[in-house]
Amino acid sequence: MRHGQALVLFSGGQDSTTCLAWALEHFGHVETIGFDYGQRHQVELQARQQVLTALRAEFAQWRERLGEDHMIDLAVLGQISDTALTRETEIVMDAAGLPNTFVPGRNLLFFQLAAAVGYRRGLHTLVGGMCETDFSGYPDCRDDTLKALQVAVSLGMGQRFTFETPLMWLDKADTWQLAHTLGGQALVDIVLEQSHTCYHGVRETRHAWGYGCGNCPACALRKAGFERWQALQN
Ligand code: ZN
Repeated sequence: MRHGQALVLFSGGQDSTTCLAWALEHFGHVETIGFDYGQRHQVELQARQQVLTALRAEFAQWRERLGEDHMIDLAVLGQISDTALTRETEIVMDAAGLPNTFVPGRNLLFFQLAAAVGYRRGLHTLVGGMCETDFSGYPDCRDDTLKALQVAVSLGMGQRFTFETPLMWLDKADTWQLAHTLGGQALVDIVLEQSHTCYHGVRETRHAWGYGCGNCPACALRKAGFERWQALQN
């Protein structure tokens, strides 16, 4: 019998799918939250539903722990950002070395909104797939950022929240291995077939590492991690 309840920030990508499996293995009741901010990859929002359906179908022990999915409309982010995620522009690196897909500080907002939902639903553990090892330079993915925010949110809501980031110190090869450890080949197959990472929303081509354009920064990380994981297996 697992105890505790958690709310997982779930985008339908490889990282948050692995985090969701991690939460389902560690907590007795798990809910999910996603944010619709006019992503160019609306396909990612479809991937969320397909991943949830596949997890319920494949893992009986997780099915009973997996509760409600909360979808939050964050169209306002489209008004305050000018990035490749929300406009039809090329993905390039800016002067700070950050891809222009960056919506400044978006993870801060995501965690605050998740905490507000968690407060009402009695879910005081928030789980996110942020990672400092292979991250694309996003300062809001850093461990220190999230630890500081955990303190601020807990103080500001008068309720102790714990932010769990099981991928924080893993590289992308480790993340594939974690999926395998949690759910074996069946979970790896769900990540490969159903999760979506590509910034361009490409689903036409199935590579060994899943679907995507193969060239954007997100695909490049996913591909390199998968190939490194495969090499470690042999
Ligand atoms: Zn791509």
